[in-house]
Amino acid sequence: MKLSPANPLRVRARVRQRVTGLLGAGACLLAALPAAAQTPPPPVLSTAEFQACLARLQGTSDFRGIDPAIYAQHTRGLEPDATVLPLLNRQPEFTMPVWDYMAVLVDAERVADGRAAYRQWLPTLRQIEQRYGVEPAMVMGVWGVESNFGQIMGGRPLVQSLSTLSCFGRRQAYFRTEFANVLRILQGGHVPAEKLTGSWAGAFGQTQFMPSTFLRTAVDFDGDGRRDIVSSVPDALASTANFLRKAGYRTGEPWGYEVKLPGGFDTSQAGRRNKRALEHWQAQGVRLVDGSPLPATLSQAGLLLPAGANGPAFLVGKNFDTLYSYNASENYALAIAQLSTLVAGEKTQTGFVTPWPTDDPGLSRAENRELQTLLLARGHDIGAPDGLIGEKTRAAIRTEQGRLGMRANGRAGQQLLSALRRDGTAMQR
Ligand code: CA
Repeated sequence: MKLSPANPLRVRARVRQRVTGLLGAGACLLAALPAAAQTPPPPVLSTAEFQACLARLQGTSDFRGIDPAIYAQHTRGLEPDATVLPLLNRQPEFTMPVWDYMAVLVDAERVADGRAAYRQWLPTLRQIEQRYGVEPAMVMGVWGVESNFGQIMGGRPLVQSLSTLSCFGRRQAYFRTEFANVLRILQGGHVPAEKLTGSWAGAFGQTQFMPSTFLRTAVDFDGDGRRDIVSSVPDALASTANFLRKAGYRTGEPWGYEVKLPGGFDTSQAGRRNKRALEHWQAQGVRLVDGSPLPATLSQAGLLLPAGANGPAFLVGKNFDTLYSYNASENYALAIAQLSTLVAGEKTQTGFVTPWPTDDPGLSRAENRELQTLLLARGHDIGAPDGLIGEKTRAAIRTEQGRLGMRANGRAGQQLLSALRRDGTAMQR
């Protein structure tokens, strides 16, 4: 669908998609992935101008109902955080191929972490399923991709980031709503201020909700009277299930399944939104990837071809759309879907049956760490190997790619890793 800039609702939807889809929810985990080009240095911001802005905002309608004492408590002496502004403006250096997302988001480590957490929380997940009708595996997939099962939630103080973005930069109106809502969360006593940290854009907690999503969707499942998606796993998992239910989740339906297309298939029918009855796809010769007939577990399904006609193919139903609504990205939704399948199953292979159409697949986090170790051994100052490819790693990759006669695009792939391994052997001799 084409978005019309003339329609304010559409523009708002686009802003939301940009903010939450690319850089908000899940951004803590993925901040390094969408590959920012060299981020310019942050601007110098005036504290006096910032404080004047905060005083002005308090009287506006966005902040209606917020206790002046709460407002004062959280803004008195507050300094702006200029480092969020370059993040707001950055443009992706290149479009990351889907196989890179999948390799790093759905790797053996995350599946192992997920299976351990699944065993630990299964009784709670069953209670959540009874109340919201969302299967445990689906909740686990979201939890894993959003915060690595609560391990990575982001460390930026929300009040500081969101108030800065409310007073400086290009999207102030959007961020003012979120700033006001974070104050409402504090006023409600749901999460203590010192725990209210997250991505630069304000996504926080184990579910990586924006404050407005929190107010609409978060629930108190452990019964202590607070909706705490940071410290309470039951609250976080139930809030995720509630989000999916509100997005139209259908109990008992799978997200979809991998399929195989017949030769000469007309791929113009592809598209998540182009939902057709299962009989249509069956009649077109689409089969499960093992060749068996399509199971009637989906009523309507769209054909997803994330890498075109020559890569893996999927039929996806309404529940895939609920995953999409979490992050506004089909690649993220596919990662959640695949992780959910693996966490609740026994397969050891993390990829799909049909390989991605590339001769240079992406790297797992373990392989990213190995790559970073090889870069460190060559004198690149990239910090500790953490498996996340940030700007410093990318710059080092470009240098090494140039030295090895490869295209210097900053991408961490199997060919570069192999080349550096061979190169390392040669250096030791
Ligand atoms: Ca609670």
